[in-house]
Amino acid sequence: MRYSAQKGTRDILPSEIHNWQKAEKTFAEVCHSFGYEEIRIPTFEQTDLFQRGVGDTTDVVTKEMYTFEDKGGRSITLRPEGTAGVVRSFIENGMTSLATPVRLFYNITAFRYEKMQKGRMREFHQFGLESFGSAGPDIDAEIISVVDVFFKKMGLKNIALHINSIGCPACRGEYNKLLKDHFRPHIETMCEDCRTRLEKNPLRILDCKIDGGRDIVQNAPRLIDHLCEDCKAHFEGLKARLDAIGISYTIDPNIVRGLDYYTRTVFEFVSENVGTQGTICGGGRYDGLVEDCGGTATPGIGFAMGVERLLLEAEAQGALTEAPSYVKLYIASMSEQAKIEALKICYGLRLNGIGCETDMAGRSFKAQMKYAGKKGIPYLVVIGDDELASGEVKIKNMADGSEEPIKLDVIGEYLADKI
Ligand code: ATP
Ligand code: MG
Repeated sequence: MRYSAQKGTRDILPSEIHNWQKAEKTFAEVCHSFGYEEIRIPTFEQTDLFQRGVGDTTDVVTKEMYTFEDKGGRSITLRPEGTAGVVRSFIENGMTSLATPVRLFYNITAFRYEKMQKGRMREFHQFGLESFGSAGPDIDAEIISVVDVFFKKMGLKNIALHINSIGCPACRGEYNKLLKDHFRPHIETMCEDCRTRLEKNPLRILDCKIDGGRDIVQNAPRLIDHLCEDCKAHFEGLKARLDAIGISYTIDPNIVRGLDYYTRTVFEFVSENVGTQGTICGGGRYDGLVEDCGGTATPGIGFAMGVERLLLEAEAQGALTEAPSYVKLYIASMSEQAKIEALKICYGLRLNGIGCETDMAGRSFKAQMKYAGKKGIPYLVVIGDDELASGEVKIKNMADGSEEPIKLDVIGEYLADKI
C-alpha cells in the first residue's frame, strides 16, 4: 500500500522550512513591535460559530467547510479562517474587560474544501491579527501598517494596497435596495449563486468568481458613493492617516471581501505574480461581529494573510534567503577511542549552543569526510591517536581550506567567535 498526501495538502519539507520559519519569526516580531500578542486557538470549533461568524451566505460556509459529526454527535468544523475563533475566545475569556485596544495575532492552519490551484490549498496557513475596542480609523491605519512593515522586513516590494468602505448596516440597507434594482432585470443571465444572493445578500454578487468580471457587475452602483456621513468621515480619516504615514493605496470600489462580517473599511494586498490567486492578504472592520457572536458590542478589525501565497510571492521576487547551516562543525574520528572523545566534545558544544555532528554510521574516515562535505558543514576537526595524546587538533575552515591549531577544550570559544 502506498499512501500519498491528500488532495490540497502538502508536506513542508526541511529544504524549504527556513523560509517558513523566517516568515513566522518576522511576522511575530513586527506584531510585537505594534503591541500585538500571540493567541493560539483550537483547530476545530462548533459549526454554528462559523455559520454565524463567517456568515451563512458566504462561499466559505456554503461550499468550503470541513464539517463532520464527532462521536458525541456534535457538529464540528475545522476552522476555515481565524477571526471567528479569536472572537469566540475574546468573549469566552472575558477579554472585553481588558484595556483597549485588545491586540491579538495568530499563525494558524485553515481548512477549506476548494479546487486546487497554485496558491489555493485545502489545508493552508494564515498569519492574521485582530484588534478589538477601537472604533476610529487610527487602528485601521495601524493594522494596514503592520502588513506594510512586514512586507518591507520580508524584502517584498510592489504589493498593491486596495482599500474600500462597505459602510455600516444603515447605509448598506439603502444601498442593497439599489443593488437589487440594478441586478433584478439581468438576474436570469447570472449564475445560480448570484440568483440566491440577489435576495439574501446582493453585495455578495460583486465578489462572484463567475459573474464578477461582467459589465453588469462592473457598472453596478458603488457603495462608496452611498456612504452615510459617519462612514464617509471614517474612510476619509483612514485615507488621511495612510497619506500621512506614506503608504500608497488605490481605492477599489469592487472589494467587498469574501466574509459576511465586514463593515466600513475593507482592504486587500494584491500581487500580480501569484497567477489568479493574487490576493495575499485581506482584511477589514467588523463592528457587529462580537455582538453577533454573543458578546457585548465591541468594534473590531483584522486581517489574514495566506502564507503559501506570501512565499510564492517572495519566491517570484527573489526574496527568499539561503537555508542557514545549523551545524557548524564536523568532528571526524580515526579510532574507537577518538570517536568516544568526539561524542563528548559534541555534547559540550551543544550545551553551549553550537551545532556539531560526528559519525553515527560507523563510516570509514574517508566516508566521514565525504559526508561532512556533502552536508556543507563549515568547520572540520579530525581526531586520531596523536590528537588524543596531545589534546590539540587542527580546525579546518572548509570555505578556504585554511587550518589552525587549537586545543580540544577551547573549540567552543573558537567557534563562538566565528559564528
Ligand atoms: P480568494 O478570493 O482567493 O478565495 P478569500 O477571500 O477566500 O480569497 P480570505 O478568506 O480573505 O480569502 O483569506 C485571507 C487570505 O488567506 C487570502 O487572501 C489568501 O491569501 C489566503 N487564502 C484563502 N483561501 C486560501 C486557500 N484555499 N489556499 C491558500 N490560501 C488561501
Ligand atoms: Mg476563497
